[in-house]
Amino acid sequence: MPPSPRKPRPQRVLTVQSTERLGPHLVRLVLTGESLADFGAQESTDAYVKLLFVDPALGLEPPFDLAELRESLPGDQQPVTRTYTVRAIDRDALRLTLDVVTHGDTGYAGPWAQQATVGDVAVVMGPGGGYAPRADVGWHLFAGDLSALPAIAASLEALPAETKGVVLIEVELEEDVLELTAPVGVEVRWLVNPDIADVEFLARAVDAVAWPQGLSEETVQVFAHGERESIKCVRVVLKRREVPRAAISISGYWARGRTEDAFQAEKKTPIGTIED
Ligand SMILES: Cc1cc2nc3c(=O)[nH]c(=O)nc-3n(C[C@H](O)[C@H](O)[C@H](O)COP(=O)(O)OP(=O)(O)OC[C@H]3O[C@@H](n4cnc5c(N)ncnc54)[C@H](O)[C@@H]3O)c2cc1C
Repeated sequence: MPPSPRKPRPQRVLTVQSTERLGPHLVRLVLTGESLADFGAQESTDAYVKLLFVDPALGLEPPFDLAELRESLPGDQQPVTRTYTVRAIDRDALRLTLDVVTHGDTGYAGPWAQQATVGDVAVVMGPGGGYAPRADVGWHLFAGDLSALPAIAASLEALPAETKGVVLIEVELEEDVLELTAPVGVEVRWLVNPDIADVEFLARAVDAVAWPQGLSEETVQVFAHGERESIKCVRVVLKRREVPRAAISISGYWARGRTEDAFQAEKKTPIGTIED
């Protein structure tokens, strides 16, 4: 029997309800639309959606026939997707909140978010996701940059009040620092690193943390996501410290000098792999 064709992923056609600049590199977008009423359950605090971009010059109305577009359009006009964490979802109020890093004029999602205004259309697919902080684990470490902040912030909000741990967030500028809500026993450290070439910066901070004794998947949980080369260095530290693999959620969320398409394709090659 021939394989049945893959079911197209549903597209939610939403509009921008509000935009808020949270810092020089971060903008909050609240998207709204009837189709959020059945947005999938969000057990994961790293749940993500795919924002879909189709060349406006084609004059098409969403939802798009992606299979047909992929078949018919030349390479440089192909639809593009970009991944964003669900910072918050309110199905009753039909509100999906995304916090998007703005990083200049290159790419699709960053520049789009930077200029988004109320009423703009956004096409979203998903959610997917996999991590949630374990309430029975006593000590948590979160490490990442602004791209991982939405997942880290959502995770901190989900932790029981008695949780202990450390949060390390690398930012480029002092002005990028934000207020975060976390359990009293979780220390939030903002680390300003203006030197983007120093990819070991976050890893050094992870190494310098006062790690608890007797690391096991029952006692610690680590969430480390962000720029690929930086996260690779963090992985080296976690390995040397013998943090059990099962206690770790780790991945590159983006790669400097690569578009998301190139970066995702490289995940299947040695350069894109975060070693186990
Ligand atoms: C599971 C998952 C969840 C994610 N959640 C979020 C999130 O909630 N918020 C968020 O902002 N990002 C998040 N990201 C990262 C985001 O998908 C990438 O940053 C993506 O490349 C942005 O697309 P773009 O179109 O703006 O730039 P692209 O077209 O992909 O890239 C263009 C250029 O911009 C650079 N660039 C891309 N991202 C950044 C960045 N963050 N800082 C500096 N330069 C960059 C690239 O290196 C490239 O040179 C997530 C990624 C994953 C895999």
